Amino acid sequence: MNRDTICVQGGYTPGNGEPRQIPIVQSTTFKYSTSEDMGKLFDLEAEGYFYSRLQNPTCDAVARKICELEGGTAAMLTSSGQAANFFALFNICQNGDHIVSSSTIYGGTFNLISVTMAKMGIEVTFVDPDCSDEELDAAFRPNTKAVFGETIANPALTVLDIEKFAQAAHRHGVPLIVDNTFPTPVNCRPFEWGADIVTHSTTKYMDGHGAAVGGAIVDSGHFDWMAHADKFPGLCTPDESYHGITYAERFGQGGAFITKATAQLMRDFGCTPSPQSAFLLNLGLESLHVRMKRHCDNGLAVARFLEAHPKVAYVNYCGLESSPFHALAEKYLPNGSCGVVSFGLAGGREAASTFMKSLKLAAIETHVADARTCCLNPASSTHRQMNDEQLKAAGVPAELVRMSCGLESSEDLIADIAQALDQI
Ligand SMILES: *Cc1c(COP(=O)(O)O)cnc(C)c1O
Repeated sequence: MNRDTICVQGGYTPGNGEPRQIPIVQSTTFKYSTSEDMGKLFDLEAEGYFYSRLQNPTCDAVARKICELEGGTAAMLTSSGQAANFFALFNICQNGDHIVSSSTIYGGTFNLISVTMAKMGIEVTFVDPDCSDEELDAAFRPNTKAVFGETIANPALTVLDIEKFAQAAHRHGVPLIVDNTFPTPVNCRPFEWGADIVTHSTTKYMDGHGAAVGGAIVDSGHFDWMAHADKFPGLCTPDESYHGITYAERFGQGGAFITKATAQLMRDFGCTPSPQSAFLLNLGLESLHVRMKRHCDNGLAVARFLEAHPKVAYVNYCGLESSPFHALAEKYLPNGSCGVVSFGLAGGREAASTFMKSLKLAAIETHVADARTCCLNPASSTHRQMNDEQLKAAGVPAELVRMSCGLESSEDLIADIAQALDQI
């Protein structure tokens, strides 16, 4: 089916007389007639629900929709995007392992990988997303277990050359994990370009209304774990905590990754989404294809206006012909990228401050991808502990404003931006 139809109807097909909308199964637990019935579930010998920390029917229906949208074989929801990226990496990396990651990734993921996972004994090498094949190859070590990047990076807005990163990962016998939060599967399906695992912060466009924090992991089913069994003992050797099940044997190439992440990581870490939040996420998904188009139209209109304005020094938006990422955007994002635009004010830090407080429609928020337009000056908020030099090195110079264009009329957004620029 077409992605538009999956957005509306994917993941859940009610039977005769059943609820039209996905039911919210707000129950921690599920009843069984015999201990033997329940035992089979614990041994992963039968499918079914027993405790909502591991699986819940509402969450599973929404995960199925996201799985269909990405064109994957299995998927799971998590309580946040952070949990999704942690689970996706930790499912195949352990103490003594190594990750290759694009350097332009979300700050929270950068901290997760470079600080918190380092404490678990997992090392990382960051590479410039523009690096050559040779530079990319040089980042790998014998203990490398995964490659990570974001289709469109938050907040750098660089576009990942997915094919280049997938080919490098596969040359070294490991999967490529792509965080596809910003374009969503409506604008890009990384599996079509060789990515093996996709993650999402569903908090952003998928929810789209600033209502519920959440995440998702989707498996393409393309990666042959058993062909690289020495690298992935967690998937390819017996799990003693599940009576010696070998995930890659029992659940195959298409099911092993998500089953292990559910049975082990969700069991032990418990980053579970609530059924209520999954229901809200599904309401967002039902209109995702319609909303993404408007977010992209507004993003492009605002980027074009800013680019032509004398008080704006530069604009980062891959939809602009002037963007260094325009060619990659034409290849991977032919129908549009996202509604997030960043730009630098010629007047520096002070001009950014005046601009921000003069906006009337766009609210100052540490959020993106909402129906309502919002903006942020990282130098005076998320990165305020840094001096001007450090800000520049971090790719968020003092004059930078990140604007997430919502679903309002582009004329009104541009009029608001124009009057705020006039105040400088
Ligand atoms: C927001 C974001 C995350 C983190 O997601 P949360 O839902 O806030 O935990 C991860 N990756 C990207 C690209 C994001 O924008």
